[in-house]
Amino acid sequence: MTDPSISPNPHHPHDHSQCVHQALSSAEHLCQREGVRLTALRKRVLELVWQSHKPLGAYDILETLAREDGRRAAPPTVYRALDFLLEQGLVHRIASLNAFIGCSSPEHRHQGQFLICRQCHVAVELDQLPIHQAIADSAAQLGFEVESETVEITGLCKRCREHA
Ligand SMILES: [Zn+2]
Ligand SMILES: [Zn+2]
Ligand SMILES: [Zn+2]
Repeated sequence: MTDPSISPNPHHPHDHSQCVHQALSSAEHLCQREGVRLTALRKRVLELVWQSHKPLGAYDILETLAREDGRRAAPPTVYRALDFLLEQGLVHRIASLNAFIGCSSPEHRHQGQFLICRQCHVAVELDQLPIHQAIADSAAQLGFEVESETVEITGLCKRCREHA
């Protein structure tokens, strides 16, 4: 479970290169452990998703890759790379924004919940098992089989509220 007292609060200024470094090295570990390949493209896409704590759309990723490459990266390749990252739990999809965000604790499987600031667009992942459990229990009581779970909360982060 993510301990907010240890990980930097993404809403506050911090050395983000550390976040990126940490994310890439745990991705490498995780892929090695799972026996799957973190190809150069998959790694680059992950790095792009991690460029900030704001969810990033597939279109932005395609744009950046096209600019870097001078040639347009084939969209299906990029979508496959994103699927791979999702499958490995390295990124989460933010359904309400149709965008992706890096996961800071991919080493254990979880269903995250997100606090999304409508002003600065930073999304903070809550990794709260009790929320997940409550949804699972309520669904089970109704005989409902959960196929995907999306818990996205919008509002104003502390920093934006203070600077309002
Ligand atoms: Zn950061
Ligand atoms: Zn996560
Ligand atoms: Zn904010």
